[in-house]
Order: sequence, then structure tokens, then C-alpha cells
Amino acid sequence: MTFPRRLIEGYEDFRARRLPAEQSRYRELAERGQSPEIMVIGCCDSRVSPEVIFNAKPGELFVVRNVANLVPPYAPDSAYHGVSAALEFAVGVLRVKHIVVLGHAQCGGVRAFAEGITPVSPSDFIGRWMSLLAPAAERLGGRDAQRPAEYLRRLEQASIVNALENLRTFPRLRKLIERGAVACHGAYFGVATGELSVLDPQSGEFQPIDMTMATRS
Ligand SMILES: [Zn+2]
Repeated sequence: MTFPRRLIEGYEDFRARRLPAEQSRYRELAERGQSPEIMVIGCCDSRVSPEVIFNAKPGELFVVRNVANLVPPYAPDSAYHGVSAALEFAVGVLRVKHIVVLGHAQCGGVRAFAEGITPVSPSDFIGRWMSLLAPAAERLGGRDAQRPAEYLRRLEQASIVNALENLRTFPRLRKLIERGAVACHGAYFGVATGELSVLDPQSGEFQPIDMTMATRS
């Protein structure tokens, strides 16, 4: 098995174009270490790369991706908690100021849950992982009267709200949120349109991003 040709070509392109432009930035980051102000919790989906969507430079985003951009609730037990470990590092060591849960349209994980996937065995990692969606689905109630695509969009967005609530179950993070040191945000990427919506905490609705927000903050 050879290393994938696509990756070799991609790296060649990176080395020829992007690296020369960002070499000093990489050197500085290597010497000083990273200090990103923003953490993004995104989906593994290959169409939804946070660095691409937010046009991020090296060192700007601390990203953890998992199936369906879920956040498990705080559970100090002996299991292996990858998302919780990343969260602990982002909050406790990097001291990020913002945490963004980035969901997206046509999420395969959310669709799998909606189509009735349930954990069938201890090694059914997807089924067990996706059961984290159950509170969001309960909140939405029945799906009978809704068109399937509309239901999936609502479930994808309810899951983001649920993930934001689970973030508050981490005691240290909760204190920082209450103190105003960390702000949590929900965002939703429309894969086909490229449109980004942001959760409005007042209305609880996802609104297309207001491009004037950048000049106001
Ligand atoms: Zn997804």
C-alpha cells in the first residue's frame, strides 16, 4: 500500500503555495505554542471542514470533530472521553473564549438516528454514540406530520441546542460561562447552499449570519 497519491499532490501544493506565505507564522506558532481563542466542535463529515468554512489560518481554531458534532454530558467515570478531553484542554489550558458547535445539513449521523438506529451490541459504537441525540429528538416530539427533510433539519438543529446544554454540565466550563469568560454558540452549515446560520439565543432560531456582525464586534 502506498501513501495516497491525492495526499502527496495536496501536500506538494501546500508546500509550493501556502507554506511559503505562512512559514513565519508556523515558526512563530512552533516557538510560542498555540493560543487559539476559538474552539469548534464539528462533524467528521468531509464536506464540513471548519478551517475551510471559516477560512482559518494555522493556530486560529482548536477543532474537535466527531460523528454528528455531539457533546456528551459531563461523566467523570473510567470510560475514554475524547470530546471531554479536548474540551478540558481548550478551556483549562488554552483558555479559549468562544466554543462553537457547528452542525450541518444532510448529516449522516443524524439521519441514521432518525431512521431508527439503536445500539445493538457493546461494539456498536455508532448506535451508542448517536443515542446522545435522544434528548433532542424527545424535545421535537413526533415526526409523523412533518416532511422527512424538514424533520431532519429540525433534529440537526435541536441537536446543536442539546450539545450547548451539555457543555454547561462541565463544572469548570459552566463557571466560566456564568462569569462571561467563555461564550458558547450554535452554528449550522447548509452544505448545498454554503449558507451559515447562527443560533439566536433570544428566539432559539437559527438565523442566516448577518455579515454586519463582524464590523460591530
Ligand atoms: Zn454530520
